Amino acid sequence: MAQPRPWLDEIIDALKELGGHGTLHDLSEKILERDIMNFEENPLFRARIRGAIYNHSSDGTFFKGEAGGSKDIFYSVAGIGKGHWGLRNYEPTEDTVDITEDDMGFEEGKKKLKQHIVRERNPQVIKLAKERFKEKHGRLYCEVCTFDFFERYGEIGEDFIEGHHTIPVSELEEGQKTRVEDIALVCSNCHKMLHRRRPWLSKDELKKLINNKQTNY
Ligand SMILES: [Zn+2]
Ligand SMILES: [Zn+2]
Repeated sequence: MAQPRPWLDEIIDALKELGGHGTLHDLSEKILERDIMNFEENPLFRARIRGAIYNHSSDGTFFKGEAGGSKDIFYSVAGIGKGHWGLRNYEPTEDTVDITEDDMGFEEGKKKLKQHIVRERNPQVIKLAKERFKEKHGRLYCEVCTFDFFERYGEIGEDFIEGHHTIPVSELEEGQKTRVEDIALVCSNCHKMLHRRRPWLSKDELKKLINNKQTNY
């Protein structure tokens, strides 16, 4: 059976879902999860993915150049051999980041917000932040309100938490990497509230708001 679509198209869409960049591992996992391609036909599909990327990146060793018929689509995020690839000229769109009606009111901040959300979707950093948090506290819970998805929702909530990048994009230097230390783990409600005011509230400011609210009763 033929493939339902070219691998290249699938790789591009999967990378978009990953926020514009990802490791070969995360990319393969994402493509498996999307479950569109015929994996039986290409049991070595991971190598196929790597090949397609190398053929379409001027950072790759097989690139024949635009004149050779291959477009320069991907760039190496962390250097060749690190297996971390991104889409050149990737601009997050509304359907790749779920910004809310509130966010739409801030025209000038929209692009910044998108960049912010893409940054905090970095799967490696979030994974590391979660691991570290669990090592330290034994479980995952919201750093602002202590909400625990597993406790509330059971199995489906296990291991679920959102990552919030505590440094605004405007304060980051070009090309600066996302550090685990800069990720706050928060529940979805607190995350939305953190973004609701410009400039964004800090974790502690939001915590304070919750505490004041409670003593007001
Ligand atoms: Zn919370
Ligand atoms: Zn955030």
